[in-house]
Amino acid sequence: MSTKILVTENLTVSFGGFKALNQLNFSMDVGELRVIIGPNGAGKTTFLDVITGKVRPTEGQVTFKNHRNLRKLSEYQIAQLGIGRKFQTPRVYPKLTPRENLQLACDRPKAVFPSLFGQSSPASRQTVQGLLDTTGLVAKADLPAQYLSHGEKQWLEIGMLVAQSPDLLLVDEPVAGLTDEETVLTGELLLSLAESHSIIVIEHDMEFVRQIAQTVTVLHQGSVLCEGTMAEVQANPQVIEVYLGSPAESAPSRVQVG
Ligand code: ADP
Ligand code: MG
Repeated sequence: MSTKILVTENLTVSFGGFKALNQLNFSMDVGELRVIIGPNGAGKTTFLDVITGKVRPTEGQVTFKNHRNLRKLSEYQIAQLGIGRKFQTPRVYPKLTPRENLQLACDRPKAVFPSLFGQSSPASRQTVQGLLDTTGLVAKADLPAQYLSHGEKQWLEIGMLVAQSPDLLLVDEPVAGLTDEETVLTGELLLSLAESHSIIVIEHDMEFVRQIAQTVTVLHQGSVLCEGTMAEVQANPQVIEVYLGSPAESAPSRVQVG
């Protein structure tokens, strides 16, 4: 039996009676890269909000590793357990270089003082160099981050998350607004991170989902509609109906979903 990193049971979030999540049951294994898709309003972002403690569930619970019921913990405590979240808009320090941004991220939880006083330990410098390599930012390492492209800023922020050594990375729409080339590179970055992390990616760009997806979960009206490989999901009549709003019989057998 494989070990689960994340399990949700009957997870429900009501906003004044409207159920953004409705009895959502979800689980994923340690080391898995899972892609979540679904129409606008399906509850994808709310799902990440509940996992990270930004929104409290009305019913049900989230289990992360062996921590049952995260409900009692603050957002900060949940992050400390090992969940890192990448928001859609990059949050990097524009006047600092990628190297400095990564240095701050490496030092953040353990020791703030060394970087404030301009010193850094050889161990963390090594990590910063490794992160620059991983994120493909070696050539731009010493340029203020404000001069990076949108894609490069996204990679930098992913690097800053990875610097915190999270066990589970949550990534919301990482390729929105990126060029085709940046999109492919982002896929390669996530695939390489997936070798040593459990990752949930929420995404609309179906070319991108095809590039990275092993298992896809489709959310609809706050519940799991179906789960499987990309091919299985695209051939699922219910998925086709949800995306096209038409009877399955009259819909094409393969469809672009997002
Ligand atoms: P997705 O990310 O899949 O597009 P969301 O999780 O953002 O969907 O939203 C799911 C539903 O919940 C939407 O109908 C949205 O309008 C509603 N919703 C999300 N957050 C709130 C909130 N704070 N108050 C009221 N309704 C909300
Ligand atoms: Mg969303």
